[in-house]
Amino acid sequence: MTHTILENLKKKTLKSHCSYYVGCVGFDKNFNFVGSSINQPRLHKEGGGVHAELNLLKKFGPRIKHILLCRLGKSGKFRPIHPCKNCRKVLDKMGIRVIMIEGEKD
Ligand SMILES: [Zn+2]
Repeated sequence: MTHTILENLKKKTLKSHCSYYVGCVGFDKNFNFVGSSINQPRLHKEGGGVHAELNLLKKFGPRIKHILLCRLGKSGKFRPIHPCKNCRKVLDKMGIRVIMIEGEKD
């Protein structure tokens, strides 16, 4: 994984408007970069936003075969993250592999 991809992912993820900064990058079956995405809040409803993984699929569709997922703390450091049950179900169904960036606990 190149340094540039991680740096770009960090920059993009910090633009999230959610209280949790979650971002991801999608690759096709040959590990070519397809696109990136962040989570989106839905106003006035706790946990009602669009998660980064599903946002990515909405934008780029079935070309995505691998996802690199990360969460950042306010300090810009990587924090632990894993797909929620709902996203996991969708990703499994589509045969998408998720790689999580390991982060330090808050
Ligand atoms: Zn989710």
